[in-house]
Amino acid sequence: MAKRDYYDILGLSKSASASEVKKAYRKLALKYHPDKNPDDDVAEDKFKEAAEAYEILSDSTKKQQYDRFGHAGMRGSGGGGGGGHHMNMEDIFSQFGDVFGGGGGGFGGFGGGGGGRRRRMKGADLRIKVKLTLEEIATGVKKKIKVAKQIQASGVEHDDCSQCNGTGQVRRVTNTILGAMQTSSTCPSCNGSGFSISSKPSGTDEWGMKREEEVVTIDIPSGVENGMQLNVRGEGNGAPIGGVAGDLLVVVEEISHKEFQRNGKNLHHDLYISFIDACLGSSTQVPLLNGKAKIKIEAGTQSGKLVRLRGKGLPSVESYGNGDLLVNINIWTPKTLTKEERKTLDNLKESSNFQPETGHGERGFFDKVTDLFS
Ligand SMILES: [Zn+2]
Repeated sequence: MAKRDYYDILGLSKSASASEVKKAYRKLALKYHPDKNPDDDVAEDKFKEAAEAYEILSDSTKKQQYDRFGHAGMRGSGGGGGGGHHMNMEDIFSQFGDVFGGGGGGFGGFGGGGGGRRRRMKGADLRIKVKLTLEEIATGVKKKIKVAKQIQASGVEHDDCSQCNGTGQVRRVTNTILGAMQTSSTCPSCNGSGFSISSKPSGTDEWGMKREEEVVTIDIPSGVENGMQLNVRGEGNGAPIGGVAGDLLVVVEEISHKEFQRNGKNLHHDLYISFIDACLGSSTQVPLLNGKAKIKIEAGTQSGKLVRLRGKGLPSVESYGNGDLLVNINIWTPKTLTKEERKTLDNLKESSNFQPETGHGERGFFDKVTDLFS
């Protein structure tokens, strides 16, 4: 089944503020909470769906990505392990501290959630640009790139956090409209990790992290396009004490090519031939991304003729098969002539063969491209 739009799930418009997102989620979480809907699978699904929508829309980076690319943009960006974007009950309940926290009253402490719900810290995502030639795009390429990132310094020692006794959660009982509830929220002292740093080398931050350059090898698939973003999992900033590193977001920048213009999978090349070759016919070479190809010029070739070399374009990241190379034939008109050349041409001038045919005008460029593909 297709995934529902996160805004629809929460009943919000795209312009909803952060507090509206929180409010809408709170309402749904209360309505579909498993304690209030025992053995109701539909309610449980709705509960999970709302939690997922909240997780994305309450995080400005994820929200931005979702706003731009929809569900497709969420691929591989899920927090914690695993590929897709599904939250388990543990994740959902650990989120509650933030949603219902403070004096507002709310849930917590059910389903055997006692203690030990430490939150793994997560490093920030980093974004870099990588410049690629068409030759590299044609084959795919491994790029080694220096990335300055936060990493855990060696020699860092840690203890359990004293404020939460290492659980990562601080709890208290409050009276709410639903009766006495145990509220748990993320421990402010350790950020929910359950750890405190007991010793760290100098030159590191409060978590014993330092900035260092690392060489990251990035596997770039063939067929990528300008502006595409590749997610390299776990190569962003590191996280303290067994936490999860952020991702490295690699933005593709295509270097323009002197021989080819790119149009999706297809390449265009402007070939110039002499006026004489166009009249008499000949064969000539055209450049390819990986060498050269011979093409035949028919006698009587008109300027603007398009020749298609099947499969000599680029692969695509989305579909099978290569695109084509479209060679646009231009006829080179001499800019200077010797006396003799001028005389020779003058002699040909009156020949009816040299008069453009009327009514047989060449079709426009885009019509010809359409013809090639029809
Ligand atoms: Zn703590």
